[in-house]
Amino acid sequence: MPTNWRARLPSPSVYYARELADLAPPSITGWARATCPFHNDRNQSLLVQVTGDRGSWRCDGSCGGGDLVGFHQRRTGLPFKAAVRDLVRRPA
Ligand SMILES: [Zn+2]
Repeated sequence: MPTNWRARLPSPSVYYARELADLAPPSITGWARATCPFHNDRNQSLLVQVTGDRGSWRCDGSCGGGDLVGFHQRRTGLPFKAAVRDLVRRPA
């Protein structure tokens, strides 16, 4: 694994703004809505936490949820270690 990889992950606000074209401004609790890329979504069912460093997400549909690395895995189809490598290689 890359050295100190957790500290080198992109910040959730930067990452999700890049990944989700229609990301809405966050609520006071730091959660922001967007169209879910994992199902045929017409209602901005996805919630992502853009504050903090975990990048939690969940879908009001049936796509589940997780953290930023899990989101990137699902987005790219990469296994965990490859997803981390891909994330730390990108400019944050
Ligand atoms: Zn979904």
